[in-house]
Amino acid sequence: MFDVAIIGGGACGCSMLYELSRYKVNAVLLEKENDVSVGTTKANSAIVHAGYDPEPGTVMARCNVEGNRIIEQLCKDLDILYDKIGSLVLGFSEEDRKTVEKLYHRGIENGVPGLRIVEKEELHQMEPALSDDALFALWAPSGAIINPWELAIAQAEAAVDGGAKVMLDAEVTGIKKNADCFTLQTAQGEVQARFVVNAAGVYTDQIAKMVGDKSFTITPNRGEYFVLDTTQGKLVKHIIFQCPTKVGKGVLVSPTVHGNLIVGPNAEDVDADDADTTASGLHAVRQAAVRSVPNINFRDSIRNFAGVRAISTQDDFIVEESKACKGFFHIAGIKSPGLTSSPAIAREMVQMLHGAGLELEPNPNFVAKRRVLRFKSLSAKERGEAIMRNPLYGTIVCRCETVTEGEIVDAMHRPLAPRSVDGIKRRCTPGMGRCQGGFCGPRVQAIIARELGIPESEVPLDRAGMNIILGRTKEQKEAAEQ
Ligand SMILES: Cc1cc2nc3c(=O)[nH]c(=O)nc-3n(C[C@H](O)[C@H](O)[C@H](O)COP(=O)(O)OP(=O)(O)OC[C@H]3O[C@@H](n4cnc5c(N)ncnc54)[C@H](O)[C@@H]3O)c2cc1C
Repeated sequence: MFDVAIIGGGACGCSMLYELSRYKVNAVLLEKENDVSVGTTKANSAIVHAGYDPEPGTVMARCNVEGNRIIEQLCKDLDILYDKIGSLVLGFSEEDRKTVEKLYHRGIENGVPGLRIVEKEELHQMEPALSDDALFALWAPSGAIINPWELAIAQAEAAVDGGAKVMLDAEVTGIKKNADCFTLQTAQGEVQARFVVNAAGVYTDQIAKMVGDKSFTITPNRGEYFVLDTTQGKLVKHIIFQCPTKVGKGVLVSPTVHGNLIVGPNAEDVDADDADTTASGLHAVRQAAVRSVPNINFRDSIRNFAGVRAISTQDDFIVEESKACKGFFHIAGIKSPGLTSSPAIAREMVQMLHGAGLELEPNPNFVAKRRVLRFKSLSAKERGEAIMRNPLYGTIVCRCETVTEGEIVDAMHRPLAPRSVDGIKRRCTPGMGRCQGGFCGPRVQAIIARELGIPESEVPLDRAGMNIILGRTKEQKEAAEQ
C-alpha cells in the first residue's frame, strides 16, 4: 500500500515525486513507457518562461512565475543544463505595440522581474541578426533555456535515491475506489494507494474518466520544430518570440543549452499520439521564423520533431482534487508554460495532499544535490584526472558531442537505468550532434546491451517495440527462401 500513486512520468509527475521525497511519504510513480520524460516533456521549446503571458490571477500565472524562480535553483542543485539568457517578444507594427504593452502590464501584475520595452536602436544592438522590420520588443531578463528531459530525469533519479519508487512499463488501465484507498490496475499488476495524482499529460481526461470524472476533456495540439546545427547556435543570443496569438506563443528562434538553434512551433489540433512532422507544418514554421531572423540557414537543419500540447476545456491549468472522487487529484491541461510551472505545481499539490490528510514528516534521506560528469565541459587537466580515475572517460563514443563511454556507463548505473538508445541520448547527449547518431548509435546500443546483460536486438531506439535490429540478415534471407 502506497501513500501516493502518481500516474505519468513527465515534468509534472517527476516534480511531484521529487517534492514528495522531501517527506517520509511512500510514493510510487507509474509510467506506461520504458522511461520517464517521453511524453510532451520530451518535445517542446525548452524555454523557462518569464511569466508575462498568463492572465493575472490564474493558477498558470502563479505557477509560471514561481516555477521560473524555483527552476533556477533546482538546476544548480541537481546539475541540470540551464542558461538565463532572457527573452524578447518582437513588435513589427503599432498593432503589435498594443500586445507588447499588454504583456508588459500583465507581467508586472504577475510579479515578473526586470521587464522593459526596448526600442529599435537598443533592440538591434542586443540582437544584430533581427529583421530590420522589428521595431521594438518586450525584454524579460528572467526568461531562460533548459534541458527539459534532464529536468524530469534528474528529479526522478533524486527521488528514487531518496526512497521513492518508479514503475516503468506500468500503464494504468483501470482504477477502483475502495473505502480507504484506490486499487490501480497496471500492466505490472495491481497497485494500491491512499491518494492518486493524475499527471498523464494528454491522457489526463481518459484517466479522470476511470473514476467517473468527466469534468474536462483534452484536445491534443501539435507543434513542429527545426533543430539546427551548432554552426547556427550563435545566430541569436536571446530567446526571440513574436507576439502571441489565440493558439499559442507563436514561432520562436532560440539558442539551446546544447549550443544548437531551435525554431518553432506551429499549432495544429491532432490525435493524442500524433507527434509526426509534416511538410506543410514545417513550411509554416520556416516562413514565420524568417520574419524575425531572416538569415537562418535551414540547410543546417539536423532534425525535425513535434510535440503535443494538452489543451483542456478549462482556460487554466487544472490543479485540484476531483469533485467527482475524493482522494483523487488532477494535474491536467498542462499546456505551455507547463514545463516552467511544473515544480511550483508540484509544491502546491503536495500542500493539497497534506490538506487532505497526508502526513508530511521530513525525510532524512532526501537528495538535495546531484552531480553528473560532463566530459565535454571539463578543462584539459580535469579530463586527464577523470581518465586516470576511470579509463572509460578516455574513449570517445559520440564524436559530434564529445561523449565518452564513461558517461554512458555512469548513466546506466544511476537509478532508472535507461533501456533505449534515446534514453541514453536524453541523459548524456550521444546522437544529438550533426550525424544524429549515425556513427555512435550502434556503439551506444552495444554498451546498453553489455551493461544490462541482454542481446543487442533487445535494445530499442526509444519506446518498447521501436526495434533497431530485427534479426540477422542471413537468417531472414533463409527464412524468406523457405
Ligand atoms: C510544442 C510545445 C511547446 C512547448 N514549449 C514549452 C516551453 O517552452 N516552456 C514550457 O514551460 N512549457 C512548454 N510546453 C509545455 C510543456 O512541454 C508541458 O506542459 C509539459 O511537458 C507537460 O508535462 P506533463 O508531465 O504534464 O505531461 P507529459 O510530459 O506528457 O507526461 C505525461 C506522462 O504520462 C504518461 N501516461 C499517459 N497515460 C498513462 C497511463 N495510462 N498510465 C501511465 N502513464 C501514462 C505518458 O507516457 C507521459 O510520460 C510546450 C508544449 C508543446 C507541445
